[in-house]
Amino acid sequence: MTLLELEDVTASYGPVQVLDGVTLSVPENGAVGILGANGAGKTTTLRAISGTVRAGGRIVFDGKDIRGMRPDQVAAQGIAHVPEGRGTLGDLTVRENLMVGAYLRKDRKGIDEDVDYCLDLFPNLRERITSNASALSGGEQQMLAVSRGIMSKPRLMLLDEASLGLAPSTAKNVYDAIRRLRVESGIAMLVVEQNANLAFTLVDTATVLETGRNALTGSSAELKGMDEIRRAYLGG
Ligand code: ATP
Repeated sequence: MTLLELEDVTASYGPVQVLDGVTLSVPENGAVGILGANGAGKTTTLRAISGTVRAGGRIVFDGKDIRGMRPDQVAAQGIAHVPEGRGTLGDLTVRENLMVGAYLRKDRKGIDEDVDYCLDLFPNLRERITSNASALSGGEQQMLAVSRGIMSKPRLMLLDEASLGLAPSTAKNVYDAIRRLRVESGIAMLVVEQNANLAFTLVDTATVLETGRNALTGSSAELKGMDEIRRAYLGG
């Protein structure tokens, strides 16, 4: 069953149109990638879904039209946005950041279990639980950003450039954990990634955006095999 559906989504920053009709769908428990060059509109697509930029077209989540909802309303539907740049709160501790992620929940026991789950998924965070987020390494901050998303108990996670600025081995660790999360939780994922090789380790299908439109859509295996994808995003 389809969980998220975008049809002909448009968005602008002032007079500049950056999304010019984006169409994609994420099945329940599925993982879908959004690939493309700098400025193609990948981040803006996630922002259109989470309500942080105004969008045209159709955005339907779990059968409900969510276009035009405020970000907090979108979050309450079960969508967690893990933004580019991580968005962790530097003055708060790791534990406090996790609690911020759980702010809409009341199930004390479930919250405690999910904190444990995050610390099991990312053992680095267990050692840093009382540290301020600002004291974490880039990789640890990314782990915290994903964990904060987990704490909201979402049905869909929007992941923006989880590998950005990380050493290759750290990026791989983060993706290994996200893959495990996907299998164990069944959370559906919409994944923006510049590093297509890394994205293909997680997603089943992907769409390539070019100047705010879908240029190509296919399975990871199909896209990996295409010369033009290799040249543009996989370095030869
Ligand atoms: P990147 O990897 O660079 O983030 P992207 O594919 O995610 O690329 P977007 O961030 O969605 O691209 O940006 C699409 C276009 O919109 C770019 O030309 C960018 O310069 C422009 N843009 C992004 N944010 C804003 C903003 N807040 N105000 C004005 N223009 C913006």
